[in-house]
Amino acid sequence: MKIAVVGTGYVGLVTGACFAELGNMVTCVDVDREKIGRLKKGQVPIFEPGLEEIIRRNRRNRLSFSTDLSKAVQSSDFIFIAVSTPAGKSGEADISSVKAVALGIAKAINKYKIIINKSTVPIGMGDIVTQIIIKNGPKDVSFDVVSNPEFLREGSAVADLLRPERVVIGATRRTAAQKVAEIYKPLHCPILITDVKSAEMIKYASNAFLATKISYINEIANLCDQVGADILQVTRGMSYDSRIGGQFFNSGLGFGGSCFPKDVAALVHMGKANRYPFRILPNVLAVNEYQRRLFVQKVKKAVGSLRGKTLGIWGLSFKPNTDDLRDAPSLTILPALIAGGAKLRAYDPVAMGKARKVFKKVSFCKNPYEAAQGADAVLLLTDWNEFKQIDFQKLKAVVRQTILVDGRNMYESQEMAEKGFEYHGMGRGEVIQF
Ligand code: NAD
Repeated sequence: MKIAVVGTGYVGLVTGACFAELGNMVTCVDVDREKIGRLKKGQVPIFEPGLEEIIRRNRRNRLSFSTDLSKAVQSSDFIFIAVSTPAGKSGEADISSVKAVALGIAKAINKYKIIINKSTVPIGMGDIVTQIIIKNGPKDVSFDVVSNPEFLREGSAVADLLRPERVVIGATRRTAAQKVAEIYKPLHCPILITDVKSAEMIKYASNAFLATKISYINEIANLCDQVGADILQVTRGMSYDSRIGGQFFNSGLGFGGSCFPKDVAALVHMGKANRYPFRILPNVLAVNEYQRRLFVQKVKKAVGSLRGKTLGIWGLSFKPNTDDLRDAPSLTILPALIAGGAKLRAYDPVAMGKARKVFKKVSFCKNPYEAAQGADAVLLLTDWNEFKQIDFQKLKAVVRQTILVDGRNMYESQEMAEKGFEYHGMGRGEVIQF
């Protein structure tokens, strides 16, 4: 099949590469000339396990990169829109890029095409894209607009795309949905066909549900601290109940990244705009922000005043296996620590390139031990596997004080005490007084 994927970011690039891997002819389009230039040379602009190999395998035959939207539209039967939809000023999804692509498609469309919204877009976006094309495109060319929200997770995007738990396709005409379903057929996964608006809602409702689960367990963790219970034992006990399950149940610094915070905010905005102001969701965001402030309080409590203290920071990306810093807890925690007068030494296995551009007053280090050199406390912000392999004897020899503040509950408090570290987790039974 001939496919164009517009927007070559985490979703578009992974989608385009995987569709090529499945045997399709794919053109990935982006307005970012530098990004396309690098991709044409075989350089992959993001870190995503397995992606580079797939691009390398398909680059010379089935996968190409271009800034020419018109040409890509005209030579494809399916056009996937995977551009960014960031949060606008009031939390609403900024749909200007999707609209710009729809206009570009309208101007280039020369025969029947299926246009597929893969970006996370507000409910009703399918209609907006349809209207833009009707208004600006040729009158004698027909098309379908389909919703196909993406559920991949950064850090395991390739595996998620090639082994999805489900594919959702929302369409007005069943024939269009079935044609899109053909692309996913080799993946042998459940394919759910719905109307367009329901498909658009499934994406928001799923992300907001997962965010709610995290904020909920963080509130339980905060009460665990106050009453002396251990959240890890609590979640273990809860997760045996199959109605609850054990996934997305890690208490700590909360959710970040380019999706959950903005998608929950967009749903809150949609609720207000449609005469249903959500009661739960604004508080999901409030709890998430609180977790970051709480962590800074825990650090202050552990080291006394921050002024003049050296802190070793382990992990900067919003979660492991990605270099993505968008809405990462580090973005609010590091400035707060610096404002308190602390000196920071940081290490992240892959996000250092991006981090150098964001954090100006931080010393970047080559490994976790260098980051901990002379530290009054080591702070774990991202639960990278590398931090599970720490040699604590070696660590002990380089730090000034053996204090570990674990924002991800990666370590066992008992074990840390045996290794000679003063351990502070999130919801491990430590009373915090404000
Ligand atoms: P991204 O910022 O990584 O990439 C978006 C790309 O679109 C950029 O390369 C940008 O240059 C390009 N772009 C912007 N305007 C354009 C235009 N007019 N024409 C062509 N290209 C244009 O974004 P992302 O993380 O890949 O997310 C894309 C969409 O997918 C968003 O709606 C997001 O909510 C959704 N989504 C993201 C994830 C994720 O984990 N990142 C998962 C599921 C869904």
